[in-house]
Amino acid sequence: MGTAPFSLLRMLADGRFHSGERLGRALGLSRAGVWNLIRRIEALGLRVFKVRGRGYRLAEALDLFKLDALAAGLKKVSPELRVEVLDECPSTNTVLAQRAAAGAPHGTVLACEHQSAGRGRRGHSWVSAVGGSLVFSILWRFPRGAGALGGLSLAVAVGAAKALERLGTHGVGVKWPNDLYCEGRKLGGILIESSGDILGPSAVIVGVGINVRLGTRTRERIGAPATDIASHSKTVPSRTDVLVAALESIAGVLARFSREGFAPFREEWLQRHAWKGRRVALSQAGRRVAEGKVVGVAEDGALMLDSIGGIERFHSGELSLRPG
Ligand code: ATP
Repeated sequence: MGTAPFSLLRMLADGRFHSGERLGRALGLSRAGVWNLIRRIEALGLRVFKVRGRGYRLAEALDLFKLDALAAGLKKVSPELRVEVLDECPSTNTVLAQRAAAGAPHGTVLACEHQSAGRGRRGHSWVSAVGGSLVFSILWRFPRGAGALGGLSLAVAVGAAKALERLGTHGVGVKWPNDLYCEGRKLGGILIESSGDILGPSAVIVGVGINVRLGTRTRERIGAPATDIASHSKTVPSRTDVLVAALESIAGVLARFSREGFAPFREEWLQRHAWKGRRVALSQAGRRVAEGKVVGVAEDGALMLDSIGGIERFHSGELSLRPG
């Protein structure tokens, strides 16, 4: 059973008119009850048309998850994953971390139709839109400690990029350490959060956000150059198809990373390196620590920067482009 607004949203998702009376009957609600839910749907940023005598319809059809197709797809490609789709949650990473602490098993996946408080690194927010964004998190338990996870976000980015390429998205690039790019704009991001001992076993939450189809309002909310799968694909895959493909690819990456670390993914990362040769500044905790040209990444996922002092390696930080 989903939440009430999403039960209604699933009926309206086809973009056609539905009479208020029928909707009310299906949901066991009065006309006022349906109207209340419509207002909650509008509060999610969706436009609903109301026409006397015809009922309600969404301004455009909405791509919600198809749970049957998702279950069938995953059974075929990644039977080891246990996937749950929530209608709404603040952040799939936050909820899954709580479940991990309570003993959720390795391979638990949480996806969500509406993420209301998505997070990026350093307290930044990740913006998503109902029906237009894909957000999910995977719980992976590594036998080795958090200290052995260098390069994990890069390896996951390679896995996500390959899944999108297979679905027909053109020109997917990766940016150190955790982003997917297309033609100079951010297409997706990865947020890795781990708990456990530096040496002992660790529980890692791999959060992924990918823009499938961004509307104007969502782009405005993001406030930074962003792009989506729809802008770089001939036919736009459904969110369900993107989720299945991404999970298959990323689960494969995680299993291999657990055995071999980042090294086997380095070449594939370099082939997709979006900021290769670009002049950048590197900051750590808000302080600029280096400037130079991005050469690439090392076997352990460290950024390699050609700066005044020669080739330097960095394990953490944020990059920003510099002129020249
Ligand atoms: P960057 O890599 O851009 O320097 P970061 O690594 O600190 O930033 P992330 O955690 O990757 O940031 O993502 C958060 C940032 O991404 C936000 O500050 C915002 O600028 C941008 N952003 C938020 N939502 C989206 C989205 N849906 N698509 C593209 N960019 C987004």
